[in-house]
Amino acid sequence: MPDNTSPITPRLARAEQVFPTLTPAQIARIAPHGRVRATLAGEVMIEAGDKVVPFFVVTAGHVEVVRPSAGVDTLIVVHAAGQFTGEANMISGRRALFRARAVDAGSVIELDREQMVALVQTDAELSEILMRAFIFRRLELVESHVGDAVLIGSMHSPGTLRIKEFLTRNSHPHLYLDLDKDADVQALLDKFKVAVTEIPVLICRGDAVLRNPSNQEIATCLGFNDAIDQTHVRDLVIVGAGPAGLAAAVYGASEGLDVLVLESNAPGGQAGSSSRIENYLGFPTGISGQELASRAHTQAQKFGAQIIIARTATRLTCDRKPYAMSIDDDATRIPARAVIIATGVQYRRLAVDNLSQFEGAGIYYGATFIEAQLCGGEEVIVVGGANSAGQAAVFLAQTARRVQMFIRSDGLADTMSRYLIRRIEENPAIVLRTHTEIVALEGSDRVERVRWRNNKTGAVETENIGHVFVMTGAVPNTVWLHGCVALDEKGFIKTGPDLSPDDLAQAHWPLARAPHLLETSLPGVFAVGDVRGGNIKRVASAVGEGSIAVSFVHQALHE
Ligand SMILES: Cc1cc2nc3c(=O)[nH]c(=O)nc-3n(C[C@H](O)[C@H](O)[C@H](O)COP(=O)(O)OP(=O)(O)OC[C@H]3O[C@@H](n4cnc5c(N)ncnc54)[C@H](O)[C@@H]3O)c2cc1C
Repeated sequence: MPDNTSPITPRLARAEQVFPTLTPAQIARIAPHGRVRATLAGEVMIEAGDKVVPFFVVTAGHVEVVRPSAGVDTLIVVHAAGQFTGEANMISGRRALFRARAVDAGSVIELDREQMVALVQTDAELSEILMRAFIFRRLELVESHVGDAVLIGSMHSPGTLRIKEFLTRNSHPHLYLDLDKDADVQALLDKFKVAVTEIPVLICRGDAVLRNPSNQEIATCLGFNDAIDQTHVRDLVIVGAGPAGLAAAVYGASEGLDVLVLESNAPGGQAGSSSRIENYLGFPTGISGQELASRAHTQAQKFGAQIIIARTATRLTCDRKPYAMSIDDDATRIPARAVIIATGVQYRRLAVDNLSQFEGAGIYYGATFIEAQLCGGEEVIVVGGANSAGQAAVFLAQTARRVQMFIRSDGLADTMSRYLIRRIEENPAIVLRTHTEIVALEGSDRVERVRWRNNKTGAVETENIGHVFVMTGAVPNTVWLHGCVALDEKGFIKTGPDLSPDDLAQAHWPLARAPHLLETSLPGVFAVGDVRGGNIKRVASAVGEGSIAVSFVHQALHE
């Protein structure tokens, strides 16, 4: 029997949205999509870990949702007549996290996943109620740390931080046990015969014990990609699930294309690591990158796009159609009639262990008005010696108390424009430190102290500084394209009018028409977002380009 304490107690304000009760008219609209059937008292309707997960609307009696663990069932919720089962997994097609069981004899409307997805695509009112409930239920699970994964590690271990970030950014609910704080955890490790040196450990779905697993191993164990067929020819394969790729997935799938997205890490891309995006249209108080990404992810899946997580595109076969995307070891090749490349850029990062903990919380990769406001009147560090770093230093010096510029070389002359060097020299608020490198960051929620070393003298200093601007450049993620499309001198993808007659001649452009806007030198292959030469590196432009590209995909597919 379940115990009576539910770990899920939705905030009152949204309780009715998390567990809504459908009206008789709404239930009547669902019935024709599935089958009405009786339930027996005690009947298990969904088992935790099931790959095939139906959707149930309770029409009589009660259905309880429990988390089975070590012989004890923990009650999550009891659905009464008019209420329905399911959470975000319903849309993504991933394994069930919980067991659903009829408490008493009653009746339900049962829909398989395809019928449920068809329902939300055709009925706007039900779509809103169901989607909102599924998203809020997932948020409640994440916030309550209830799920099928237990991570045991230490916040001082990079592996722990990586796995925590991977689970969090994939919105996968999990429990975290910190070895540094919880002495009882050792007993648990002993139970699974795990040495402390093998941490972090992920206990996956109650039994598999993974020792410092890769993101791909975690995705496999939790069944992130189970429901996705990787063999048939897709209308559109999108590489990268940052804002640009997710926008393309939403528009492509909603316009009837068979869309597959490949993502090497987690949906959201760089934007997913931003603690608050304040300049994205429609969010006057800002939205966290994680929330924006998770909403876009669900939205794309609602329209039928499929998203493969923790698999990297390593090669594009571009000498014949359909094109094909090789994944990881080349063992899998996904054929595609059209391709959108949305792989973004890799910012050069500081070689500091706990860096990702502070990204967006004191570590910034851009110096805009927003960041300038955040550190007004305070001391900041700008790392880098090229023009972007110089511009950032001059800009930030207008509002910051003092700007320290760290460069590894002995001066700016070789890397920065003369006019910027002069402005830096003439500005008393900017201090240039040569041969200097950051060696440690300290703080709890955000950067509070920075330690650096002078590589010439060996002197190490620490100061209370909370803002570090890493302006050491960005490298586009284009190496995997192996010459399939024309790149500019910095490795960004050239598209549309930026492609010169020479570029097109070299690429043997075969068509009478010129490349569409956002089309690369390879017909039917498009590039959007940060990876595209000339792109303005913002969430809004990535989303805009991803959306626009889909209309050209339609045209290319009809050629
Ligand atoms: C900390 C931070 C804060 C920011 N804050 C803001 C802000 O407040 N406002 C704003 O407008 N902009 C902000 N930006 C910039 C904004 O996030 C980017 O411009 C935007 O994310 C670019 O979107 P994208 O989809 O083109 O690329 P990305 O977001 O970089 O996404 C690319 C995706 O492709 C995946 N990928 C790469 N290579 C492969 C491969 N071979 N196979 C499969 N997948 C691959 C990556 O894992 C990644 O998920 C911020 C950036 C950072 C780093």
